[in-house]
Amino acid sequence: MSKRAISTDQIHHPYHAPEGWNAFPPGVFKASTVLFKNTADLHQYRPRDGLSYRYGLHGTPTSYTLAARIASLESAKHCLLVPSGLAAVTLVSLGLLRPGDEVLVPDNVYGQNRYLSESWLPQFGITHKFYDPLDAAGFKTLLTPQTKLVWLEAAGSITLEFPDLLGLLAACKARGGVITALDNTWGSGVAFNPFEIVPGVGVDISMQALTKYASGGADVLMGSVCTRDLDLHERLNHAHEHLGYGLGQNDVEMVLRGLPTLELRYRAQDATTRALAAWMQTQPQVAQVLHPALPGSPGHAHWLQASSAGAACLFSAVFKPQYSARQVDAFVDALALFGIGYSWAGPMSLAVPSDMSRSRSLARSFADGVIVRFAIGLEAEADLRADLAQALAIL
Ligand SMILES: *Cc1c(COP(=O)(O)O)cnc(C)c1O
Repeated sequence: MSKRAISTDQIHHPYHAPEGWNAFPPGVFKASTVLFKNTADLHQYRPRDGLSYRYGLHGTPTSYTLAARIASLESAKHCLLVPSGLAAVTLVSLGLLRPGDEVLVPDNVYGQNRYLSESWLPQFGITHKFYDPLDAAGFKTLLTPQTKLVWLEAAGSITLEFPDLLGLLAACKARGGVITALDNTWGSGVAFNPFEIVPGVGVDISMQALTKYASGGADVLMGSVCTRDLDLHERLNHAHEHLGYGLGQNDVEMVLRGLPTLELRYRAQDATTRALAAWMQTQPQVAQVLHPALPGSPGHAHWLQASSAGAACLFSAVFKPQYSARQVDAFVDALALFGIGYSWAGPMSLAVPSDMSRSRSLARSFADGVIVRFAIGLEAEADLRADLAQALAIL
């Protein structure tokens, strides 16, 4: 037989990695098409069980490996992966809510979750109410037969109030028929077990922006939605299939590379953050430091109840009211080691001035003044402290 043309030969080449090949890094399997052995194999029904493959959009061995590891990180049974943390938020809300339903959202929720509830869900006849995450008694009065989903976030975005998780979950349980979903990006599976916060008390769904700790590199966007309940997982999976959430397997590989060092990074960043937050609180320009592990910070007692094991890498400083937004901007510009930008849990520390005027509608538990949110990276604490000190001096 004559030799096949180069293109044909390269496309149909007989060499494949041998069965039984083994190494520490999981293989990176990429596909749109998944090849079947023959037509009988093609016609066979394939459930989405994480073992059988049908089409690359639904996963390859690489993404199923990551899903299994994230389920284990979250102490869950099932995990769906999506292309961003925000996609994980929308998967939960769009997957579970129907016309006539109401969703309850904490006032300090991640901004895009707030905007989803305020400006997108109403188009589908879904109403929302914001609640004060520190006030479980007030929350209880908001629950109605229409309440189908309750979002929780611990700690909340920017102002980092740690919610009364136990009180809020007890109220949902007493009402019945309410699905609870936690944005667990901050705890990341390290600070506490979302499905067993204390024995017998946990959420139904835990989602994360894997963009943050799981990746750790500030170079990839991804999200996860975990449950212990098969029925709930199947409902979410149904939405996942319709929404067409696929993943690039190179991105999946990046997150898989981050996982072995996740806990070490979390603890190192946590320790530096606690030290800097405590130091910042002693500075004369600062009215209040918001960080759940600091006594006096909003929700500190709830944090002690739920999770004294971890406090992530975020704190916010409220500057005394005499400092204008422009002066605080100048302070941020004077920082040399802190990048100015969104996201967090990467190697580089970040600082962002945050305007709370459009992102809170209820009473506030934090002081008046311009807020800067700090995300602490992996730099040495002494270097970061010296940088903060030199920039504070210009105020
Ligand atoms: C970053 C973040 C998200 C969204 O993640 P993306 O991957 O940026 O879409 C959701 N929730 C919280 C708490 C976050 O910090």
